Amino acid sequence: MTTFYKYLEVAVALPLNQTYTYSVPDSLLSLISIGKRVLVPFGKRRISGFIMGKGENSGHYPIKNILDVLDESPLFLPDIIPFFYWISDYYMHPIGEVIKSALPGGLTLTDSIIISITPKGIKALDSDKINPLEKKLLIRLQQGKCLLKTLCKNIEIPGAMIHKFVNQGWADSHRELHGKRTMEKTERFVSLIRPCRPVHGLSEKRKEIINILESKKDISLKTLKEYVPKSGQLITSMSKQGFLSIFPKPVYRDPFGESIVPDSSPELNQEQSDVVSKAAASFDKGFAAYLLAGVTGSGKTEVYMRLAAEAIAKNLPVIILVPEIALISQMERRFRARFGEQVAVLHSGLSSGERFDQWMRIIKKKAPIVVGARSAVFAPVENPGLIIVDEEHDTSYKQGADLLYNARDIAVVRAKLSGGIVILGSATPSVQSFYNVRTGKFKELALTKRVEKRPLPYIQIVDLRQTRDLRGARRFITQPLINAVKETLEKKEQVLLFLNRRGFASFPVCAACGESIRCEHCDITLTLHRLAGSYKCHYCGFTKNAPCNCSVCGSSDIKHLGLGTEKLEAAVKALFPEARVARMDRDTTTRKGSILKILKSLRNRAVDVLIGTQMVAKGHDFPNITLVGIICADLSLSFPDFRAGERTFQLLAQVAGRAGRGNVPGRVFLQTYAPEHFSIIAAKHQDFKFFYNTEIGFRKALNYPPFSRIIQLRISGKNIDKTRETAQVLGRLCREKQKKNTAFLRNIEILGPIEAPVAKIANQYRWQMLIKGNKIKELHQFTRQVGAENPKVFNDSKVKVIIDVDPFFMS
Ligand code: ADP
Ligand code: ZN
Ligand code: ZN
Repeated sequence: MTTFYKYLEVAVALPLNQTYTYSVPDSLLSLISIGKRVLVPFGKRRISGFIMGKGENSGHYPIKNILDVLDESPLFLPDIIPFFYWISDYYMHPIGEVIKSALPGGLTLTDSIIISITPKGIKALDSDKINPLEKKLLIRLQQGKCLLKTLCKNIEIPGAMIHKFVNQGWADSHRELHGKRTMEKTERFVSLIRPCRPVHGLSEKRKEIINILESKKDISLKTLKEYVPKSGQLITSMSKQGFLSIFPKPVYRDPFGESIVPDSSPELNQEQSDVVSKAAASFDKGFAAYLLAGVTGSGKTEVYMRLAAEAIAKNLPVIILVPEIALISQMERRFRARFGEQVAVLHSGLSSGERFDQWMRIIKKKAPIVVGARSAVFAPVENPGLIIVDEEHDTSYKQGADLLYNARDIAVVRAKLSGGIVILGSATPSVQSFYNVRTGKFKELALTKRVEKRPLPYIQIVDLRQTRDLRGARRFITQPLINAVKETLEKKEQVLLFLNRRGFASFPVCAACGESIRCEHCDITLTLHRLAGSYKCHYCGFTKNAPCNCSVCGSSDIKHLGLGTEKLEAAVKALFPEARVARMDRDTTTRKGSILKILKSLRNRAVDVLIGTQMVAKGHDFPNITLVGIICADLSLSFPDFRAGERTFQLLAQVAGRAGRGNVPGRVFLQTYAPEHFSIIAAKHQDFKFFYNTEIGFRKALNYPPFSRIIQLRISGKNIDKTRETAQVLGRLCREKQKKNTAFLRNIEILGPIEAPVAKIANQYRWQMLIKGNKIKELHQFTRQVGAENPKVFNDSKVKVIIDVDPFFMS
């Protein structure tokens, strides 16, 4: 939609909290529409910005012209702009950067300074008056032009020297743009212009081509050539003779690997159809939020599909969020089987071209159903009528870098702003969401039984404290579990063994002096990966050849304590040499498609035992798994995080839910050192209400979310002293600020600053501070004021201060 605005409001992709007004030269007027990018002058630079709407010329400042319009068609529609502003405000993130994070990656243009050598510079190389550093720079430039940034960084040339070169005419400096304009991919298509009657007398090939074109509106040139081999020249000459036309047409890169057999919907059971009719009754009636609590295997996905069908029948676009790529592929399969080409997908497994094409399909209203990961909450559908967040409790909905949003939370906001309905689904709802049910913010929908009366698995708790004295593999795979695996394998059924730690051994320690083998860049021990022959840091990726000697005493006697999936795999292979064992964790799934391969071999029963980390815990439907073994249930219980109990319960109940999803009932062995812990007991009974009722008491007593809100300030820097100082200064500033305002004094609690639980990651020292209170508005106000009054502390390049609203990970 062209707007012909003379003045534009533009949000630039820079850390600035305001938008700017630019004018449009007549030559570009017809290209303007909201949601396109423009190139604008900004100080000495040229940068890209987003057209937000009509601008105002206040007359106070000279207004500059935009330089160019970068997109053929808009990247977002006007209806999403209030959502962007809401996010910018809530997460205290600059509006331009919010939009940049929302759009498919790689679209920002950057303007960089390029240095190249001049003939005078080349001549200077022969002179004997230049010093070695000057010579080094000239030689580098003689090899080709180079970014100023790279010169300063990689060959450590002082910026002043480069300026001197430019001033004395040895080098030339100019600006160049990097990045891309969006261009839709096109292919050449062929269509018939005029009928060619009579056809007799024409060559067979000509007849064939005409027949094909008569039966189709248009067809890609490539496909036509496949139908009629060796017809290239003939097609060209038929086009020259005016029989047919060859023209470019936008096509979409197809990210869908396999073709999928269409399915039809089964008859819903009573519970399912109750849920569907309750939720569907509120379509078109404004905002409503539901929590769908449905035990594992109760047919939630079927409910989602039915609701999606009802929504698109009413012309309401649908967004379905799924936590992980592996699950997206499963959700995508089921949705595509049901809805075919009406489905678009958005996730990080796509190439940037594929992602852009999917984005354009959505914006052009070619696909009313979007299935995707976290970032699909920004999918450019117009006024979504239904947003579904599957496995809403999942931590991967929280983005960990840049814009620190929680997709689950903002999905609710987006539904509210567009007057649609949102459904959060899970077998193990988050404490936050169920609290929202209790306080009347969300309505509860429930699926209490598994589909087709399949029973929930029987969960047996095995007390690991009683096997402490046993040695070797039997220590961590207990006898009852060994017996159960044996029985299951004999019946040709499948086993899932869950251990939420990858690698072989997570605690390599010197037997001579007791020193552990640690990362050189982080405050953490390295994990032995025996297959890869190295020690790896799970925080920064640092690796070191294994085995190595103790760095303190030089001894080569290193004990590999601590259990990981690799060690578990070796133990299982030793105990069950006949079994076909596969492992699914981050180490075995780095290559694209490897997750799907593992899942496929499981489905085809080419695997008897699957060993995995939390990757296997989530939402998968493996009908032939009848035994699940949880090797150590307590790993996450002792994390320094108030949500540790919640995460443990969710993970265990989800893993246990993988058992017995087919026709044979399932069994679970849950090995633990803390059999009396309520998180473990709740998992045993798959009873999230029991968990909630106990947990909520602790949250209330300690005034943790959902009773309070938290903003976390994370302070990090390379220098240990400066980082600590900044943290302490920040603490002091916050407390002084608080003292001056009675409301802040009464309602806000400041905790810290303290050193983070992992005090150093990737050479960055880390501190943190919590600002806690019951009203998020007040926390925003407080943080904003502290930020505005102390810009130097918040914008220091040496020590970074990150503001995380509703933090999710306290480590
Ligand atoms: P959940 O998402 O709650 O774990 P799913 O939607 O994956 O459960 O359903 C579990 C299995 O039951 C799937 O294989 C699904 O196809 C099947 N299913 C779901 N609803 C029905 C139904 N009404 N009739 C028959 N089979 C169903
Ligand atoms: Zn030692
Ligand atoms: Zn490290």
